[in-house]
Amino acid sequence: MSDLEKNLDKLEGYLARFRQNGVQNLIAGKSVAAKTGETFQNLSPVDDSVICEITKGGADDIDAAARAARDAFPAWRDFPAVERKKVLHRIADLIEERAEEIALLECWDTGQALRFMSKAALRGAENFRFFADRAPAARDGQSLPSPTLMNITTRVPIGPVGVITPWNTPFMLSTWKIAPALSAGCTVVHKPAELSPVTASVLAEIAQEAGLPPGVWNVVNGMGEDAGRALTEHPDIKAIAFVGESATGSAIMRQGSETLKRVHFELGGKNPVVVFDDADLDRALDAAVFMIYSLNGERCTSSSRLLVQKSISSDFTARLEARAKAVNVGHPLDPDTEVGPLIGHGHLDKVISYFDVAREDGATIAAGGERLGDTGCFVAPTLFTDARADMRIAQEEIFGPVLTVIPFEDEAEALKIANRVEYGLTGYVWTNDLSRALRFTNELEAGMIWVNSENVRHLPTPFGGVKASGIGRDGGDWSFEFYMEQKHIGLALGDHKIPQLGKI
Ligand code: NAD
Repeated sequence: MSDLEKNLDKLEGYLARFRQNGVQNLIAGKSVAAKTGETFQNLSPVDDSVICEITKGGADDIDAAARAARDAFPAWRDFPAVERKKVLHRIADLIEERAEEIALLECWDTGQALRFMSKAALRGAENFRFFADRAPAARDGQSLPSPTLMNITTRVPIGPVGVITPWNTPFMLSTWKIAPALSAGCTVVHKPAELSPVTASVLAEIAQEAGLPPGVWNVVNGMGEDAGRALTEHPDIKAIAFVGESATGSAIMRQGSETLKRVHFELGGKNPVVVFDDADLDRALDAAVFMIYSLNGERCTSSSRLLVQKSISSDFTARLEARAKAVNVGHPLDPDTEVGPLIGHGHLDKVISYFDVAREDGATIAAGGERLGDTGCFVAPTLFTDARADMRIAQEEIFGPVLTVIPFEDEAEALKIANRVEYGLTGYVWTNDLSRALRFTNELEAGMIWVNSENVRHLPTPFGGVKASGIGRDGGDWSFEFYMEQKHIGLALGDHKIPQLGKI
C-alpha cells in the first residue's frame, strides 16, 4: 500500500460519521440542526465528490447562539484564570491527539497538501498553549499615581464576540482567533467558511471534551450573506474578528455600524518579495518559490509579486521558471505533493481567468497557465513574466499558485512598485546591504516585513496589515487589546480639595 492509499484509508474512517450525520451547529453545548432544517452540500476539490451535508444556519440560529454566548459570559468571565489556563491546555492536548484526523480532513475539505496541513494542525495546538499561558495575566493593568489619586487600570473581557473565518487554512485560523478570545474571558460565536467547515466542528467538539462550559463556544454554519451578516448585526455580540476578503471587511463594517461593533480585520494581500542583486540569490529563490507555491498560493501572506533587480532578472527568472515547472502538483493526501487542488470551482474559474488577463495585458506566461485534468480544481503553478506594475496581474489578489515577476532598476523604483498597490500585508526584502534593508523596510507599506527570510511566524509578534489588508493586530498582548476593554479606577489618597459648587 502506498502512503497515499494508507492516508485515503484512514480518511475514510474519519469521514464515516460526517457522511452519516453531516455537520451540525453547536449551540449552548448541544449539537443541533439549523432551525429551518435546511442543509447544503460540502464538496471536495480533489474529485468534486460530496463530503457531507452541512446544516445551513441563518439569523434564528445566530440569535440562539448569541443568546447562549451572552448567558454563558458572566460565569466564563469570572472563571478563575488558572482554571481557564488548564482548559485551554487540555484543548491543545486533544488537538495534538487528533492531529492526524484534523490534517486529513482539512486536506480533503480544502485541497491543501498534507505536508503543510500536518503542521497547521499542530500550530493550532500551539496557539492554544500560547494563549493558555497568558490567561492569568490577561487582566493585568498599570498603576499610574497622581498627587491626589492612586490611578489603576485593569482589563475586562469585552463580552460575547463573533469570529468569522475564511476557507484557506480554516483550522489554524480558527484557533488563532478563538484561543485569545477564550483566554481573555470572552464567549464566542464562530461562523466558519461555508466552503470548508468540517474541521471547525472537530475543534468545537474538542473544546466540549476538554471541559469548556456549554455556551462559551458556539458554532453556526451557513452562508456569509445570511448567517455571517446576522452575526455582525446581532446586538449581543460586542466585537467581530474577521479574516477574509477586503470587500467583505467593508461589508461587515457597514453591517456592524448600527450596533457599534468593534472590528478586527485580517484581509487580502498582494505582497512583494523584493530581490536586490547583492542578495544571497539561492536562498532568495528558495523563499520566493516557497512563499508563492506553498499552501496552493491560497495564503494571505503569499509573495504574489516578485520584484527583481534588472541586473540579475533574466538569470533569476530562468531559475524560477525551472523551479515553478518542477513543483509537484498532486493529490493532497500524498506526502510528496507540494500543490493540491484549489478550494472549489468558483475560485478555480477566478484564478484561470487571470491567464487571459495576463495575455491581454501583454505579459508572458513562462510556466503553467492552465488547468490540470478535468476533475477537481487542479491548476499548474504559474509564472507571469515581462509584467508591469500597472497590470491587473500585478495589482489584484489572485489567491492561487500564480506569481507575477516585475523587474526594477534601482531601490527607488523598487519601492515605488512595491507600494503601488491597495494592499499592505507583508513584504519580503532580500539584500545584504544593511543600510538599504533599514531604509527600504522603513518606507515599505506593510504590516509585517521579513528581511532575508520567508514568513516565519513568532506568536508574540504583531500580525496584521495596513491599507486594504486589515485593521488591528493579533499576537501576544495585541490580541487581548482587541478582546478586552481597559478600565480605569481612581482612588483618592486623602482629602484633596474638591471644587465646591452651590455651597451655602
Ligand atoms: P470571504 O471574505 O469571501 O469569506 C470569509 C468569511 O466571511 C466566510 O466565512 C464567509 O461566509 C463570510 N462572509 C462573507 N460575506 C459576509 C458578510 N456579508 N457578512 C459576514 N460574513 C460574511 O473570504 P474567503 O474567500 O473565504 O477567503 C479568502 C480571503 O481571505 C483572501 O482575500 C485572503 O487574502 C483572506 N485572508 C486573509 C488573511 C490575513 O491574515 N490577512 C488570512 C487568510 C485569508
